[in-house]
Amino acid sequence: MQASRKASELRSLMGFTAEHSHIEQKIVRDALNTRGDNTLNPYKNRGLRWQWPVVVLPGDEPPKDWEKVKIIIEGSGKKHAFSTTKRGYGYYITYDEWLSALEKAKKGGDNVKENVGRFKIGIPYDQAASEQNCVAVAMTLAYQAHRILGRTAEEIKLFAPELWRAVEKFSLLQEPKCPFCMEKLTEDGFVKEAEDTSDVFYKRKEAEDKVIQLFHVEPLKPGGFMHRPGNVTWGHRRCNVTIGTHGIGETIDWFARVLQNRCYNVIRT
Ligand SMILES: [Zn+2]
Repeated sequence: MQASRKASELRSLMGFTAEHSHIEQKIVRDALNTRGDNTLNPYKNRGLRWQWPVVVLPGDEPPKDWEKVKIIIEGSGKKHAFSTTKRGYGYYITYDEWLSALEKAKKGGDNVKENVGRFKIGIPYDQAASEQNCVAVAMTLAYQAHRILGRTAEEIKLFAPELWRAVEKFSLLQEPKCPFCMEKLTEDGFVKEAEDTSDVFYKRKEAEDKVIQLFHVEPLKPGGFMHRPGNVTWGHRRCNVTIGTHGIGETIDWFARVLQNRCYNVIRT
């Protein structure tokens, strides 16, 4: 059993050269942080998955054994900002309390806007994960990325044995394949964020179909913490979009039904 590693140790453990720093950055960003978010909701934009309380929406059950914390309004007037009595993995606040805090800040003379960072208070319930799980996820993604770059399992075992140990139990993660279409992932799927295309619809390369994205095998949903090693892999953007919130098994069943409805004979070999 290996000792668990801290997020701060990740970059040195992953073994990428400067040429592949965009892959290293993507792993650190996606494995450790929640998705980017700029809409009118309580969520932090790319918050560390273990550093903020989760926000429980009306109708959702709070995570079992987690502690509810209070929202604190710091400062006054135009300097109002939100904080919580405790912060980190294991704490939650409710959406309704966030709304009341906004009201209270308004009464305190502030021009409160829901989309302003200092009024955002937590992260989505389904995207929360402990630091230990985030680091373990990052190590499995780094292993797969080295395979996508053409390195063999034997080579990785020699230069980064901890990456191999991270995937050892997960056969799905040992091959550089998309978990949905089962095609081999290729290095050109790791685009640099700044790359633009001439395509008038998909302005950015990172929105193209072949692009590699973080992929949850069992989809994220409130009520379970699915951002954990073994459930996170790389896959095509196109396949990720196709699956949406339905999961791989359900999507394959749907594909089979569609083909049968269109008079294809679907036989599982
Ligand atoms: Zn695919």
